[in-house]
Amino acid sequence: MAKGMDLSIRKATKYYGSFKAVDSISLDVRKGEFLTILGPSGSGKTSLLKLIAGFEEVSSGAIYLNDQDITKKKPYERDIGMVFQNYALFPHMTVAENIAYPLTLRKVPKHEIRERVQRVLDMVHMEHLGSRYPKQLSGGQQQRVAIARAIVFNPPLLLLDEPLGALDKNLRERMQLEIKHIQEKIGITTISVTHDQEEALTMSDRICVMNHGRIEQVSSPEELYQLPCNRFVAEFIGEINLLGGEVTKRDRDSSVVRLLDDTSVVFYAHGTKPEQEKVFIALRPENIHLARESGEFENTLLVQVQEKIYLGESIKLKAKTAFDQEMTVRVPVANAAQLAIGQEILLGWSRADMITIPYEADAS
Ligand code: ADP
Ligand code: MG
Repeated sequence: MAKGMDLSIRKATKYYGSFKAVDSISLDVRKGEFLTILGPSGSGKTSLLKLIAGFEEVSSGAIYLNDQDITKKKPYERDIGMVFQNYALFPHMTVAENIAYPLTLRKVPKHEIRERVQRVLDMVHMEHLGSRYPKQLSGGQQQRVAIARAIVFNPPLLLLDEPLGALDKNLRERMQLEIKHIQEKIGITTISVTHDQEEALTMSDRICVMNHGRIEQVSSPEELYQLPCNRFVAEFIGEINLLGGEVTKRDRDSSVVRLLDDTSVVFYAHGTKPEQEKVFIALRPENIHLARESGEFENTLLVQVQEKIYLGESIKLKAKTAFDQEMTVRVPVANAAQLAIGQEILLGWSRADMITIPYEADAS
């Protein structure tokens, strides 16, 4: 396994009967890293986490934790901290007893247990609630206790499976930051699973995007957003405009892309890969501007306004190109105030804000 890696997954595959839920996944997680596995429902996220935890056995492949092959080990032998969505607190135990449980199992002396429980209670801001029972706590507080219980025995790895899924939006956002702070404070290597892209972007050092049991891309949040490697990732993270085109000319660091729709519209793109012929140009809505004239930007395109959606800090415009493709643009409120539905406008953007990705007829 690679040096300096905490967790190393080598070609892990999981079949349920004849169905392949995890398809030859290889992934290294660095010490102290917060890695999020992001993907649609059914993409194999929980299955992958269960393989790491030992709740399911790999059909083939191997898993290493701190240089040790743990592939065949039982869950309790792996010593991993876990917060699973359905991994509830013990209802008949107090908060303090719940948190103490992993330490009791490990036969830690009583006085040390008391000390360590108090320390993690402080960490999750529940210092005065140790004697409560789970049913006397709010959803957010219960999740805090679950996290405290998962980290109290200093595991080398923390696994979180949609830990905030049941919470409402405001509380979820607050808890995201709280978990991130705790994770940074104790420096614990963490793998979190979510289908919520905002959660992934907020919390992660790196994000691993999964689809159909496979990894599509592993990158920092910034890179994933700015340089998605394919159509699935581009469309899964944020909003994006994709226009099919053909590379007609290529220089060292830029290329000319002609749209596929029998139009003569030509764009100047940045960083097109040598093997790419047919491409999508991919453009985020916030990188497209209203242009006064065609010389104002490296790329311009005439469109017709279809819809204006007020978002508070900006306006989202839905527009249609001459070749009938819908585009989404996000512009400051003041710039869009005068625009009428049906009006023709010129959109502009610079080549640095546009990338090309492989052309695919349909995302799967
Ligand atoms: P996710 O967590 O990304 O939603 P899961 O890992 O739970 O995805 O499931 C991936 C696929 O594997 C789904 O199609 C699911 O129905 C299937 N699956 C999960 N667990 C089992 C199981 N124990 N037996 C059979 N199929 C399963
Ligand atoms: Mg799941």
